[in-house]
Amino acid sequence: MAEIPPQMDSQYRGQEHLFNQKPPGIAKESQDNDSKPLPKGVVLDKDGKPCRTCTSVASWRALTRQARAESSSTSTPTTSAPVAAPATSSPSATPADCPPDVEALGRCTWTLLHSMAAAYPETANSEQQNDMRGFLKFFSRLYPCWVCADDFQTWMAHPSGRNQPKLKGRAEFGWWMCEAHNEVNRKLGKKEFDCRFWEERWRTGWKDGRCD
Ligand SMILES: Cc1cc2nc3c(=O)[nH]c(=O)nc-3n(C[C@H](O)[C@H](O)[C@H](O)COP(=O)(O)OP(=O)(O)OC[C@H]3O[C@@H](n4cnc5c(N)ncnc54)[C@H](O)[C@@H]3O)c2cc1C
Repeated sequence: MAEIPPQMDSQYRGQEHLFNQKPPGIAKESQDNDSKPLPKGVVLDKDGKPCRTCTSVASWRALTRQARAESSSTSTPTTSAPVAAPATSSPSATPADCPPDVEALGRCTWTLLHSMAAAYPETANSEQQNDMRGFLKFFSRLYPCWVCADDFQTWMAHPSGRNQPKLKGRAEFGWWMCEAHNEVNRKLGKKEFDCRFWEERWRTGWKDGRCD
């Protein structure tokens, strides 16, 4: 059984047996024989541990249920550690003070990113452009869902250069951000947003006045 590093103790307590899983791309045969397949949708971190911020609530709960079932079948009550899984299986019932899954993290992050575009100067000077370029560079490396970050970096670095951040001013930056978001929408099979309306959605409020 894999050991849990002390700093991860509480987060992964009860799930030690799942840490034998290897990240996608690593040969299946390198997995230990006693590791069970992970529930569908669970994404692993680069170190092979389940990545909560890369995984939906539903898949994370399937993982904790699996861990709980396995630990109750292999441990005595006095030695089994508690698994902090919510009792309900309804994602909408997730308490607001739990760590974010990939969707909650994404929603908050898009709010920040589009709001940054909304607050961007109408015409940006070179320092402002450099600051934003630097932010996007580090953001795309540090975003906590690593699979999301990798794809975002790849999209920005398209060899044609067509997806480089457009930073001369608010209008083109807001549109670029909308296209970046639509790229993820397409990947996830979601409806694309009509970028003509990005400013009403994120800066001015809708023309029908419902945000006033
Ligand atoms: C950089 C990045 C990469 C991501 N990659 C992944 C990934 O690889 N896999 C994954 O599962 N999740 C990923 N996500 C999360 C994903 O994009 C969503 O945030 C998440 O699925 C929740 O979706 P949602 O339907 O609630 O709305 P969101 O997509 O979060 O959108 C929030 C709101 O923004 C508005 N909106 C939608 N599209 C646009 C647009 N194009 N322009 C302007 N406004 C718009 C709508 O009003 C919408 O309600 C990523 C998030 C970010 C920030």
